Amino acid sequence: MTGVLGHETAPHDEQGGTPAPAAVAALIVELQSVGLRVDADVETRTGGAGPTDAGMLWIEGVPVTVPVRTEEARRSPYVLRPEDDGGRAIYRDGRRLAAVAGSRRPRYYDRTTADGIPYWKIALLHLDSMASTVVQTCNYWNTADQCRFCGIGVSLAAGSTIVKKTPEQLAEVSVAAKELDGAVDATLTTGSSTAPDRGARYVARCGRAVKDASELPVEIQFEPPRDLSILDEVHDIGGADAVGIHVETFDPQVLAHVAPGKARTGIETYFRTWERAVELWGPGRVSTYVILGMGEDPELTVQACRRAVDIGVYPFVVPLRPVAGSLMEDWAPPPGPYSNRIYWQVAAYMSQRGMSAADAVAGCARCQACSAINTVQPLLQIGRRPDATV
Ligand code: SF4
Repeated sequence: MTGVLGHETAPHDEQGGTPAPAAVAALIVELQSVGLRVDADVETRTGGAGPTDAGMLWIEGVPVTVPVRTEEARRSPYVLRPEDDGGRAIYRDGRRLAAVAGSRRPRYYDRTTADGIPYWKIALLHLDSMASTVVQTCNYWNTADQCRFCGIGVSLAAGSTIVKKTPEQLAEVSVAAKELDGAVDATLTTGSSTAPDRGARYVARCGRAVKDASELPVEIQFEPPRDLSILDEVHDIGGADAVGIHVETFDPQVLAHVAPGKARTGIETYFRTWERAVELWGPGRVSTYVILGMGEDPELTVQACRRAVDIGVYPFVVPLRPVAGSLMEDWAPPPGPYSNRIYWQVAAYMSQRGMSAADAVAGCARCQACSAINTVQPLLQIGRRPDATV
């Protein structure tokens, strides 16, 4: 089968050995588009924001989140199967494509706080990153401004989390996540609020508690505060090694449709906020999600990603992951070749400007499991060049 890089998706050697890095990159791009059928146990996560309804896997050592619960995933030509030696692998048409190490249920999930709250309701483990939505409400939720791709209220309604996590609870869980399950960082996000800081101070205080207790690097995520001086306060709290301030799409027409509240904030406000944030946290330690597959203009998207890179912002380009219960639950992820073309162009520019995921230190841009851009970027260093343009 011809993959998105224009060659066989997983060209093993004669002995069925390790697939080439380009083949692994191509496989991940495709899996994140069409999903994976699962005939083996795998740790999954349902509801909420981020890698929801996804299997969390290590594919040939690369961390990946893959849709496994959607209708499309159940029809996927790719299937995860157990192997005789106790391992697992991905197959297509009976052909073994890649070895998989799944994440097991984290040990810390069996613990509860002194006041009886299970640790897993406070923070989840996404592969090797502890992740929590510290305030599980958003002023946009259930209004005309609700982001159409978001599921922040879904997991709350399902009772799988609590509405507000305290710094003390998060600190306690972070120590267990690090010691029992090897978490290497913490990603803390929050729903937006109507307060001038949009909730940034509280998530920063949570980050500080986590850092003090576990010494894990922390990324905090929040919407642009009303006043840029608030960023200085947030930085002074000392609870964040990196920040995510997510515009989600650079196409103004798409943003107005999928995230009207963010559209009113305005894309230029995101750029102004990022510039100040980069002055405080440093280049590469400020990131934004850039979601593909919501009808955006690809050329405009690539150009705006380049502009973000120029000011030191890491554009974390990801395919749409439709969240069950969200307003876009019936959408499908974009075709792999579409995402791949944008990955190549943005990755090439990042390489040219000396930016990589290694600069991110903590959070989504450090983890990279929801995107394949970080598997594409090293291919540029070994002589491959973008073989497609938008
Ligand atoms: S701002 Fe949008 S994406 Fe963020 S929590 Fe609110 S509705 Fe969800």
